[in-house]
Amino acid sequence: MNMSYSVIARKWRPATFDEVIGQEAVIQTLKNSIAEGRIHHSLIFSGLRGTGKTSTARIYAKALNCKNGPTVEPCLECDACKEIAEGRDIDVMEIDAASNKGVDDIRNLKEIVQYPPIRDRYRVFIIDEVHMLSTHAFNALLKTIEEPPSYVVFILATTEPHKIPATIRSRCQIFEFKKIPPVQIIRHLKDICDKEGIDIEESALKLIVDASEGSMRDAQSLLDQIVSFSGGKITEEDVSIVLGVPDSTVFFKIFKAIVNDDRKSIVDILDKLEERNTDFVKFVLRLGEFFNNLLHAIVNNDKDFFPEELKEKKFSVEDVIRYLNVILQNERFVRESFNPRIAVELLLFKMVFASKVMPISELISKKKLINKTTTKTESEKLQNLNLDENQLKENHSDKGDDILNFVRKSFEDFEEIAPILRKAKLDLEGDIITVNLHPLPNSVKELIENKVFKSIEGNAHIKFQKRIKLNLEISGGNNNPVSESEKIANHPLVKKILEEFEGRIERIIK
Ligand SMILES: [Zn+2]
Repeated sequence: MNMSYSVIARKWRPATFDEVIGQEAVIQTLKNSIAEGRIHHSLIFSGLRGTGKTSTARIYAKALNCKNGPTVEPCLECDACKEIAEGRDIDVMEIDAASNKGVDDIRNLKEIVQYPPIRDRYRVFIIDEVHMLSTHAFNALLKTIEEPPSYVVFILATTEPHKIPATIRSRCQIFEFKKIPPVQIIRHLKDICDKEGIDIEESALKLIVDASEGSMRDAQSLLDQIVSFSGGKITEEDVSIVLGVPDSTVFFKIFKAIVNDDRKSIVDILDKLEERNTDFVKFVLRLGEFFNNLLHAIVNNDKDFFPEELKEKKFSVEDVIRYLNVILQNERFVRESFNPRIAVELLLFKMVFASKVMPISELISKKKLINKTTTKTESEKLQNLNLDENQLKENHSDKGDDILNFVRKSFEDFEEIAPILRKAKLDLEGDIITVNLHPLPNSVKELIENKVFKSIEGNAHIKFQKRIKLNLEISGGNNNPVSESEKIANHPLVKKILEEFEGRIERIIK
């Protein structure tokens, strides 16, 4: 992708400290030093490409050299301000350390710094990609940085600060430019689109920002490319074509194919993506995001997430969690595979199979259906069988039982995740109830702790006139297979199932 030329990036380059986005700490420190008259003479700006290093360097140069300066608010109108913004101020020199000319400039540095600035207050050297300098050039630079004349300021910009010799680093004030948070890039791009009269879908913006990985310049360049591709109205599909990443409709198609065990559709979709030169490694990352968002949408009953034809359908949270697990477990294989396309196909097929695993509760209710005509005693037996496994194990005082039963009942209010919560082992000690569950995706954990627990704690307070606290505990993964197998074989529920279905344990799959 060619990032060298971007109309939007150039036009919307920040001109003042306050316009720099996502670098609050750096900007505040620079402003303070100017306001207090402590001018740094050697600065390192380190950070990812497109995070505002060179723009900030120019703003710093303007702040020092503005006719009203040094000031934290350069006027932007005097000759110095204008010429620095355009990169043609005679006293502010921008050197590209990666170019031949740059190397020559560094060689002549010692001589140049001897002369005071011609018009401005300070002679500023902005050295871009400074880590590209040779040892020889670094030595030349070191000599000038060691004893700089009072009118000289060096700003060394780099994406790889560790490649700058320690002798130079120790003489510089170091400023770290952070990856710009996605929300801030989205907000800024939206602002640009509004002002430029570009009509862009929110999902299209998100796709651009995902691809730009915290670099404002990349995000702006992508926006530029897409504008020249599709004009003033930009859809998610436009962006997906330009970037070679699938849009959300593709993920919904894949989701439907998995649910319907439609393996032919999966292959067809992948063929199309391959024709479009899709990057399958990125594809898997977005697939994971999609299923994570899907999980949130189901749990929060967010109908807006779904396309029209799926809005009224019910989906199983347990299935989606299983899909997510398959993605998490196989994502690395796709990344390392010599043929990511095949690895993705395999992953999607595994997801199809994952949805065929039948939960025990379902198995039992099927059995119940088959045995509809059973005698009374036998149906009673089944009644017992349906007793939750954990209720068999819990043994508490009456009062405690009331509270625990209340908590269990409350789980059912959260329809979508009740199947998970039902499996919890509860333990009451004092006013604290430990809810023990098997490993869960983080998003589900957060949901349980922030939504479910808070709500139950509130209701319990009203009902029992006392404060109880719910604590989530995750367990699982025993490294002693023998005792684990025994434990499983001796589990009351397992025993009952074996008895009921006249089965035996073949092997235990974790
Ligand atoms: Zn000015």
